[in-house]
This record gives sequence, structure tokens and C-alpha cells, in this order.
Amino acid sequence: MEVVVIGGGIIGLSSAYSLQESGHQVTVIDQTDMASNCSYGNAGYICPSHFTPLATPGIVKQGLKWMLNPESPFYVKPRLSLSLIKWGLTFMKMATPQNVEKAAIPLRDFAFLSEKQYKHWESLPQFKFAYEHKGLLEIFQTQKSADHAMHLVERAHELGLSDTKLLNQSELFAMEPNHKMNAMGGIYFACDGHVYPNKVMQQLLADLKNKGVRFVTNEAVTDFEKSNGKISAVLTATNKYKADSVVMASGSWSRELAEKLNINIELMPGRGYSMTLEDTPYRTNYPAIFIEGRVAITPMDGNKMRFGGTMELTTTTEPPKMNRVMGIIKAVKRYYPEFDLPVPTIDKVWYGFRPCSADGLPYLGRTKKWSNLIMATGHSMVGMSLGAGTGQLVAEIIDEKPTSIDISFYNPERFDR
Ligand SMILES: Cc1cc2nc3c(=O)[nH]c(=O)nc-3n(C[C@H](O)[C@H](O)[C@H](O)COP(=O)(O)OP(=O)(O)OC[C@H]3O[C@@H](n4cnc5c(N)ncnc54)[C@H](O)[C@@H]3O)c2cc1C
Repeated sequence: MEVVVIGGGIIGLSSAYSLQESGHQVTVIDQTDMASNCSYGNAGYICPSHFTPLATPGIVKQGLKWMLNPESPFYVKPRLSLSLIKWGLTFMKMATPQNVEKAAIPLRDFAFLSEKQYKHWESLPQFKFAYEHKGLLEIFQTQKSADHAMHLVERAHELGLSDTKLLNQSELFAMEPNHKMNAMGGIYFACDGHVYPNKVMQQLLADLKNKGVRFVTNEAVTDFEKSNGKISAVLTATNKYKADSVVMASGSWSRELAEKLNINIELMPGRGYSMTLEDTPYRTNYPAIFIEGRVAITPMDGNKMRFGGTMELTTTTEPPKMNRVMGIIKAVKRYYPEFDLPVPTIDKVWYGFRPCSADGLPYLGRTKKWSNLIMATGHSMVGMSLGAGTGQLVAEIIDEKPTSIDISFYNPERFDR
């Protein structure tokens, strides 16, 4: 079967990998040269611990407070946008304890499926992307976060993540003895791993090219040719690509593209920034998330240390903002007071747009409107983690095999009314 995959991020490439392995002829089309999409500069967490979706009770109130501070972890570019308003209303509706509860098992199972695939890849000779399974720390500074952490650990145990531990201050400091830390305590999620995303992406690309997957770069998909409830070809400004099946893995650009097919997915680009230092003294033993600061740090690929964060609901054309970067640098110093991160010029800062669905869960599966379209987007904060597993599921859907996990939870038309 001829399959066209739109988008060469981790979702598109892992889909191409599993589809090629399953015997399909695959073409990946990307509007860029695929060297710097959201799948490169992320924190690299492969994290079954992230069983809580983005839309949680309390995040709306917290988000509104943060919006008053230009260096805070959350920002919404003020603008009159119907899609932003619709997204915001759905987000608020979805942010309930019941929905958080319902999402936990599906997210855990999805992450485990994906983790298994990353481990498999790392065992193959063509892949060495610095996968490490050393766990993840979540570090907190306030009593409120400590109380929440206790519940999170209980929930993790209920979900079978039995190696999860609540750490008091001295236990936490013992895990990071090389640097002074300002913290009250932490959680240690032993279930998590991390990769060096840049290597995952580069090695997947090289492997797919070797195996004959065709890449079309610097061409944006602008429309579709349709007949009898099917997509017959994918169109760019200059070319037409015939397809038996189409995978929409176009990340933060997917809402506009889906509109061409009369499909409504609620999705906003959530920009985040990261800086990667090499051979730096500001290096930790473990990847960690600073709970109140909403910053992620990762020691990766031997000599690198990545610092990333912020969630800026914006457009994909808005220039990057230095005050968001300063927010990350200052947050790091609040937890590690000895870490004087060099302030880069804005052109040296990496940023990417997380494809944020209105409930923080992927849109994955076929649609009722187009029988040969598979949506694979909206992975929000966990696209790297769920990436390899998404590819496997996409191939299973196209091959009409039973999927490795139940994907009904990720129905791409769940908000399409
Ligand atoms: C600071 C930061 C830290 C993060 N940390 C983590 C983490 O630790 N773990 C985790 O799991 N996730 C993390 N994420 C989220 C993760 O990076 C994303 O969820 C993931 O990269 C999304 O992958 P994607 O393939 O859907 O999108 P992308 O990587 O953005 O790829 C989409 C591709 O589609 C192409 N495209 C779009 N429209 C078209 C079109 N019309 N025609 C042709 N091509 C098109 C784009 O050019 C792009 O290359 C982080 C994100 C950020 C910003």
C-alpha cells in the first residue's frame, strides 16, 4: 500500500518506521528540512509517570495567575481568535477530576508500549540514542506541592508503578549530592527513562532513508484530492502525491490542515524553549522537573545538560520571547542556587511548538469522514514519550490488526460536533 505521512516529527517518523517494517511504500512530506521541529529540543522524557493529562483542575486558575507575570511558565498571547476561545472552553470543560482519573490507565499503557519500542530500537545496531532508564525526579518547594505529591505517589502505586517513592529533603539531597538545592522534597519515578531526542530523530531519518522511505522536504501539504469518502491524493503547491492511506502527523499545524477535510480538532501550538549546555559544571545525576517552576532539566548523551520549559499558547509565526527564556533561567536558579546559566542571545535558543489538544491527549485513529485517513497528532507534552508507540499503533490501524492498546480513548473526532 502507498502511504503518505504528513509531517517528519517523531510521530511521522515513527509511523514511517512501523509502516515500512510492515511492508508499505511510505512517503514522508514535510514543509521544512525536518531539522528543528518540536521533536528535537525537548527534554527527552520517556515517561509512564506522566499519567496526568495537561487539562487538570486548578491549572486554569493557576494559569490565569501566571499570565500576569511575563516570566511565568504559562502565557497566552492575547488575541481575538475563535479557535483559541473554543480550545480554552473545551480545556476548561475537560479539566475535571473525573477526566484526569479516566486518562490515567490509557496514558500509562500507551507510555509503556512506547517505552518498549524505544528499548527495542536502542538494541538494534543502527540506533544508539543514549536511552537511559534511570528514573525521573519531581522536585517541590512548597507544602501545597508536597500534599499533591503524596496523592500522586499513592495514585502511582495504584497504577502499578510500585517503585515510585516520596522523598523527604535528605533523601532527595542524597540523590543529588554534588550541588546545593533549595527544595522541600521530591518524588522519584523509577519507571521513567530518557533519550537524546536529537539522536533519535537523526538516526530514525538515516535508517528510514536507508530502507527506501521517500522524503519530500520543503513542501507544505496545502490540500487534498478526494473522492467517494476517501483521500485519493495529497497536494502541495507544486505536486500531487497519490495515496492509498494518509497519516496526518503534522503536529501544531494539524488543526488548519484538518479543516481542509472538514475535520475539527481543537489544537493550539504550545511553545516551549530549551537550552543545551555541553561539558558544563551545572550537571545533575537525574532528569528532574521543578514542580512550581515548571522547568525540566535532563542530563543527556554523556556530556550534555538540557534546560527547558514554559508553555506559551501562541501562533506558529509569533517571534520567540526572551522573557520566557529568562523565566527558565531564573527558575533553575531558584532550585539550584549555584547554577548561573549563561544567558544566550535569542537566536541561540531552541524552541518548538507542542501540538496541544484541548484535553492534552493525542488524537489517534481513523475518522468517520475519510475512510483512509489516520490522524496521529495532538500529543501535547508527551509526544516524545508516546512517539514510538504511536508509530506502532498507526501501522496496526492501517493493517486493520487489533491494536496493542485500546485507542478508543484517543478518538480524533471526540470534539467534532
Ligand atoms: C521544551 C519542550 C520540552 C518537551 N519535553 C518533552 C519530554 O520530555 N517528553 C515528551 O514526551 N514530550 C516532550 N515535549 C513535547 C514533544 O516534543 C512533542 O509532543 C512532540 O515533539 C510532537 O511531535 P510531532 O511529531 O507531533 O510534531 P513536530 O515534531 O512538530 O513535527 C510536525 C512536523 O509536521 C510538519 N508539518 C506541519 N504541517 C505541515 C504541512 N502542511 N505539510 C508538510 N509538513 C507539515 C512540520 O514542519 C513538522 O516537521 C516537549 C516539548 C517542548 C517544547
